Amino acid sequence: MKKTSTRLADGRELIYYDSRDDAVRSAEDLRPLPHTETLSELRHDPVLDEWVVVAAHRQGRTYHPPADECPLCPSRDGRLSEIPESDYEVVVFENRFPSLAAHPHPEEVRAAPPNAIRPAAGRCEVVCFTSDHDASFADLSPRRVGTVLEAWTDRTAELSTLPDVEQVFCFENRGVEIGVTLEHPHGQIYAYPFVTPRTERMIATAVAHRAGTGRNLFEDQLEAERRDGERIVVAGEHWTAFVPFAAHWPYEVHVYPHRRVGDLLALDDAEREEFTHLYLDLLQRFDLLFTPHEAVDAVNSTPHRTPYIAAWHQAPVRRGPGGVEGAEELALHMELFTIRRTVGKLKFLAGSESGMDVFINDVAPEHAARRLREVKA
Ligand SMILES: [Zn+2]
Repeated sequence: MKKTSTRLADGRELIYYDSRDDAVRSAEDLRPLPHTETLSELRHDPVLDEWVVVAAHRQGRTYHPPADECPLCPSRDGRLSEIPESDYEVVVFENRFPSLAAHPHPEEVRAAPPNAIRPAAGRCEVVCFTSDHDASFADLSPRRVGTVLEAWTDRTAELSTLPDVEQVFCFENRGVEIGVTLEHPHGQIYAYPFVTPRTERMIATAVAHRAGTGRNLFEDQLEAERRDGERIVVAGEHWTAFVPFAAHWPYEVHVYPHRRVGDLLALDDAEREEFTHLYLDLLQRFDLLFTPHEAVDAVNSTPHRTPYIAAWHQAPVRRGPGGVEGAEELALHMELFTIRRTVGKLKFLAGSESGMDVFINDVAPEHAARRLREVKA
């Protein structure tokens, strides 16, 4: 794997990840790009004790551009994009319209107690999985998934060294139904200047579980699912993917390495290799969920693309003595879920979910697991 770091015309960092060690990436960004100003701020909700990123400047960002103006395609035929090279494998660059930035503007708004405000420090990056505009993650080769995994791992390592960063989150939103504004296959990485509420809650639960049982919560959950087996979708020697007992979403799968580790950096070669195959298999199953049988049987048919969110859960950056208490309890895993319930029907976060955080799931987790097993031979 070769990594080549460069700068775009407005100073943002861009990094090429190549499977070939002899790849040459020397093209320069020739666009007359003005420096963009980040106006985000973090406002503290004193009632829920949560930070909200207020990023009013993002309203002007690129919204569903035509395919021939895609900013994530390589620069070709005189058309200049975010990626200066005429082709690439995997590329990561700083978002032009970041919600979180390394050098946020000075605080302008004063907050009176109980309110609090702070700069939206951190970093937002875009990860392009392929130069092929019409592809999808599920179409990538296992080797390419390996390069993406290397990029996620490298970014986690690099972003963890930034002074303000407390947690690194790699994720993919796929499909217009999820609110994706660019069709080109890509994901994002958020480096937050705080531990996210969801992670905080998971850690608190795991700490309580440790106090009560002496064991790790995530290991116990994985062991119970493997013993039961009914909700397992796919399993290998190093990973198991299952629908959780109390799934929130119609089709939701959690992917765990059998060996508990805190983050992507700790995965060994055998775990990485198996993940590339298992994850592709899982994404292909998701795409087949809502594809009519006649389309599956048709020659050269394209499966109906299922909208999904793929979210890597990693332990906070600071763990151990002096770090986040109990952070070492958190187990690296991926949560993959779709908001689609059935063909043409989406699960909306309505009153109970949005108003009270109480999910109503119309699909039984055991049924979801069975469908995901049976959808692909
Ligand atoms: Zn594109």
